[in-house]
Amino acid sequence: MKITVIGAGLAGLTAAHRLQQAGFSVDVFEREQSPGGRMAEAHDVGLNYLTGARLVYSFSKSVMGLIRELDLTDQLCHGLRIPVSTCSLAGEHSVQMSPGPQLLFNSPLSYNQRLRLLQMGVGVAGRRFSTNPDRLLDWQHYDDGTLYEFLKQRSLDQASQIYIEPIFRGARGWRMTDVSPVFFLSTTAHMYGSHAYTFTDGIGLLTERLAENLDVTYCADVKNVSRAASGGNELSYEVKGLLHSMHADLVICAVPGSLSLSIVSQPTAEESQFFRCVKYSSGYIVHFGIDCLVEPSVRFFSRDVNPSIAAVEIVDQSRIPSSYLSRLSVYLSPEAVIARKSEPEVDGELPPIWNDLPDDVARHLDRGYGHVVQQNIENMLPLFYPGYLKELSAFESYQMRGKKQIYYAGDYMSHALLGGACRSGEVVAHAIIADWAD
Ligand SMILES: Cc1cc2nc3c(=O)[nH]c(=O)nc-3n(C[C@H](O)[C@H](O)[C@H](O)COP(=O)(O)OP(=O)(O)OC[C@H]3O[C@@H](n4cnc5c(N)ncnc54)[C@H](O)[C@@H]3O)c2cc1C
Repeated sequence: MKITVIGAGLAGLTAAHRLQQAGFSVDVFEREQSPGGRMAEAHDVGLNYLTGARLVYSFSKSVMGLIRELDLTDQLCHGLRIPVSTCSLAGEHSVQMSPGPQLLFNSPLSYNQRLRLLQMGVGVAGRRFSTNPDRLLDWQHYDDGTLYEFLKQRSLDQASQIYIEPIFRGARGWRMTDVSPVFFLSTTAHMYGSHAYTFTDGIGLLTERLAENLDVTYCADVKNVSRAASGGNELSYEVKGLLHSMHADLVICAVPGSLSLSIVSQPTAEESQFFRCVKYSSGYIVHFGIDCLVEPSVRFFSRDVNPSIAAVEIVDQSRIPSSYLSRLSVYLSPEAVIARKSEPEVDGELPPIWNDLPDDVARHLDRGYGHVVQQNIENMLPLFYPGYLKELSAFESYQMRGKKQIYYAGDYMSHALLGGACRSGEVVAHAIIADWAD
């Protein structure tokens, strides 16, 4: 039996790895030149930056299991050792990426807010042992309203203003009025006591290692998958301008969910229904190469203090092969990303960020910068809006019910984190092994 996986991100590679281990013949098609998708490093005109994920959270059972299995534990090191802060109307406040009791003792929050946070934290922590940190569906009960409403009902306005809103905007491209509380609750429940890691050789190490042991064709842009009347699927894909076609008994579509319907022709009713509901946030980041060493930091902004910029990151590039000593990256706000989409794009022209740059950042750029890279992340993170988990639950049941010709994996099927992508690949592989192994 021949299985073709479309997409060499963490979800697709995990599925391929597990199926190969189970004795299936698997090949992977990836449209980029290298593996990783949103878990990789990119290099352009002397600047290094990330395509997506920065941190591996130790609470993820799937990813940590894979890391141990591939003998990569020695390569883990603590991620984000630079100062992180949020800027809101209440001022600038430092942030711990793995929040714990220090938030209650050493905090800008009022005593009343700390008490409320503690109450909520205790309630949520109670679910830590009954939920899988890589599976958002375990929080389906909270899928009704928005995160904004959830925090408002619990009078957590100050915590929301100082911490939650700026971090959600800057790190996830999500507005609190667009998403349900499920991501917030799941990560809050599992974050305490966990560690945020990266790899000494860069975040892309895990997907590179997985891909090394698999048959991956790069620069292969899959254009169409259709179910063949005689069984299996017909695939067409383009490599360097040439169109190829092939047969695959089973296909795992591991591309961002918002692209599935553009690839799979004549979808089933369940596929049409679900994939019409899959939405992603978009991101836009402008990276500047700086010729001097600038103190590294990450700053997230609330909408009140900065309507067009959600985050500014300064990274030391002096210890990695790079043409610049520092990289200064400006993340557009969700509103600015939406506005940019509706305006005609002029080649090379930078988005209108100059008036909203913090003074110190503007000063660095005024002194001069080198190359600029504009990074457009069309499908940044799945948007878990209120009601999404209901659709996901129905589709997950459909996918797990009996043999299929096409299966789906990706973070949108489990959790908008590496752990979710990895778990979704494992779930699909287990389903195929259960359904199709001799
Ligand atoms: C800015 C940002 C920051 C993040 N930070 C973190 C973090 O710190 N920690 C964390 O745990 N998670 C983080 N995430 C989330 C995490 O990166 C993703 O959830 C995860 O990498 C998604 O993996 P995936 O395999 O589902 O999708 P992807 O990584 O998107 O993989 C899909 C693959 O399919 C390929 N593809 C698409 N179309 C085709 C086609 N037609 N033919 C062939 N190939 C195709 C793509 O090129 C891609 O390689 C972040 C994401 C972003 C964007």
